[in-house]
Amino acid sequence: MHKQLILVINCGSSSLKFSLINPTNSQTLLTGLAEQLFSEDASIKIKLENQTITKDILAPHNHKLGIELLVEELQQLGYDQQIFAIGHRVVHGGEKYNLPTLITEEVKNTISELSRLAPLHNPANLTGIEACEAVFQNLPQVAIFDTAFHQSLPEKAFVYGLPYSFYQEHSIRRYGFHGTSHYFVASQAADILNKPLEECNLISAHLGNGCSVTAIKNGKSVDTSLGFTPNEGVMMGTRSGDVDSGIIYYLVNQLGYSIEDVNKVLNSKSGLLGVSGISNDCRTLEESITNKPNCRATLALNVFTYRIAKTIASFSASLTALDALVFTGGIGENSMLVRTMIVSHLSLLNFHLDEEKNKSARFGATGIISTNTARPCFVIPTNEEFVIAQQTQHLLTNLKDTANNLGAN
Ligand code: ADP
Repeated sequence: MHKQLILVINCGSSSLKFSLINPTNSQTLLTGLAEQLFSEDASIKIKLENQTITKDILAPHNHKLGIELLVEELQQLGYDQQIFAIGHRVVHGGEKYNLPTLITEEVKNTISELSRLAPLHNPANLTGIEACEAVFQNLPQVAIFDTAFHQSLPEKAFVYGLPYSFYQEHSIRRYGFHGTSHYFVASQAADILNKPLEECNLISAHLGNGCSVTAIKNGKSVDTSLGFTPNEGVMMGTRSGDVDSGIIYYLVNQLGYSIEDVNKVLNSKSGLLGVSGISNDCRTLEESITNKPNCRATLALNVFTYRIAKTIASFSASLTALDALVFTGGIGENSMLVRTMIVSHLSLLNFHLDEEKNKSARFGATGIISTNTARPCFVIPTNEEFVIAQQTQHLLTNLKDTANNLGAN
């Protein structure tokens, strides 16, 4: 039987997201999520086209058991023998990885070593890799790094105004995240613009629970708002984004916060949640505004959208041409209000939205939402899983061709 399916794994510390994808025709055969791992409530949900299968994960409630239950289901569906490889989302590739990478012992060691830069994510990604190794044994596994697309940033964009030794000795620099998503929407925008990605100049705004804006010059990332950690740049659901670093000193020195407390406030209690005092969820804030227009939810969305617009405008300094602005992520793909509020600050760049088009481009629809005379503005639903499947397949096909050519020589 011809093996052509790729299992895509995105492993969190207590969760495991997966999709089974045929990269040749971009069909997703199933998706699912194992949640609350390491607790007695651990369960797995597998979604097929017309049904959802839910199972409890028994003790020890870990990732490996979740994957074993997934395999049982894959066997029943007859997919297990069609899987060609596994593609993993890995958050941090540091400066070492700017391309999809076949996972070996050495690569695993580097991912582990890079955990110092992504302590919440890389260890979880590694757990997923090891669980798949134990269950799928000889299937090749490929890592697709969230930082990889941004490795093209020039030095002036990734070096901080800190002692240079911090970069040299401690790897403190801008890495950026959401790279797979920015790359995907950029390549889709190239299709809409009907020119090669290498000729496209774009600004993409990935607005989900985490948010980032990227400047893309000739198809390559040249600046991005997330930095050394995923808490730089624009304001997000619960993360502050940029703040005056003096505030941290003030919180610790004058208000008695511990450094752990500061980290928690900046990452989990700020952003839309912190300003609104209601929720980090954009939908909830939009509902409260409908009921009560002048509440703090309005302020939260005002700050959120103004800061995003400022970042978008600032990236005109990184580009010499600009073909289009692209919105993606749960908020970018769905919230016509947020898109309207952001673009209202960008008329100097000749961005203007068409109300009807903005209304139509939601809930999974791709669309051009700008007026006919304005600079183009697109809504493009992201699909990181598809990129991971496609890049996994490309890498393995290239490695096989290279091995065949070497054999033939
Ligand atoms: P994550 O970063 O966790 O992948 P998503 O990309 O799914 O998150 O984005 C989640 C955000 O998208 C939430 O703030 C949610 O409220 C928002 N969102 C989803 N659907 C809508 C909608 N119809 N209108 C406004 N916001 C929405």
